Amino acid sequence: MLAACAARDSNSRGRNYPEPPPKIRSEYQRDRDRIIHTGAFRRLMYKTQVFVYDEGDLYRTRLTHTLEVAQIARSVAVALGLNEALTEAIALAHDLGHTPFGHAGQEALNDAMRKFGGFEHNFQSLRVVELLEEKYAEFPGLNLTFETREGILKHCSQANARRLGELGRRFIEHRQPGLEAQLANLADEIAYNNHDVDDGLRAGLIRVEELMRIDLFGSPYIEVCRRYPGLATRRLIHETVRRMIDALVTDLIQQSRANIQAAAPSSIEDVRSLPKPLIAFSPSVGSNSRVLAQFLRKQLYLHPRVQTATQEATRVVQALFKAYMNNPALLPRNQAVFASDLNHADTDMERARRVADYIAGMTDRYALREYQRVSGQAPHEAKYSGTA
Ligand code: MG
Repeated sequence: MLAACAARDSNSRGRNYPEPPPKIRSEYQRDRDRIIHTGAFRRLMYKTQVFVYDEGDLYRTRLTHTLEVAQIARSVAVALGLNEALTEAIALAHDLGHTPFGHAGQEALNDAMRKFGGFEHNFQSLRVVELLEEKYAEFPGLNLTFETREGILKHCSQANARRLGELGRRFIEHRQPGLEAQLANLADEIAYNNHDVDDGLRAGLIRVEELMRIDLFGSPYIEVCRRYPGLATRRLIHETVRRMIDALVTDLIQQSRANIQAAAPSSIEDVRSLPKPLIAFSPSVGSNSRVLAQFLRKQLYLHPRVQTATQEATRVVQALFKAYMNNPALLPRNQAVFASDLNHADTDMERARRVADYIAGMTDRYALREYQRVSGQAPHEAKYSGTA
């Protein structure tokens, strides 16, 4: 059933700490299951995707975003004969390193960390599964297979790539990851573009009239209106969005299948040495998807009401970073012990990384509570007052 170029247990590059093979599951099923049982995975429930968690119960959170990515990625994996469990494992782990408060939190933490090597959320997802989840007796992290970790590290700076050894090598040599990793990446794009349309409309931050100018939305919207005249708004939007997802997924499968046939890689190693990814949209659909992404960036992420919340998030993250750096005693006990040990080492660098790990792991609401505790001030909670 699996394509020749799919990942499989028999050609895996394995785990950093050797373990006996699983009795019932495949290696990648074991990876997936370990990811689901992490604290970092559970905390995705209270982390912002675009909308802060207490704005309404219907908006996507990082967790529901992650589940939508996994759903799309699995469908395509099966259609292309790729390893479904590996694809799912990568999708479920891809946002584990995200800070609270979405992109605002990530930018604020990156700013604060500028002197200390910066903060990258993909790299942080890898730190979570390699180091920060302390659960197993015999190794730090989850001891995932190379292929899952390769997929989690979607982007990486050259400096971090050099430090990572084998896992970082592809960023230096401009090689590709396996097809399951390529797929999880595009499933992420399909998921967020479509659910941000849905959430943006629900919040009243974008309007159907504006979206009509975007072909990806306009064509199915007109089709649904013609076919079901007078359909109630929520059903009309859902029927449109599901057609958008279907159009993107169908195009992705067709184009990727053609790419795989043309390149005819006979193994995952062949895939890695190709100059370009094989999992791709057709040129016209790819460009339509970029047009939608640009629209959302301008109309949604840079919307004044979203920006107000963004500024507040930035202030909270900056204040937390400064407070912990100036006074490690404010950190919880296990972190504080570590931080005071670091006083004897040299290293502001290591303390900063530890503080960044701690802040990145916070949920939105925990960060707000911590802000109140360390500053004595209540955060000004900015809300969008969405329409639903
Ligand atoms: Mg994502």
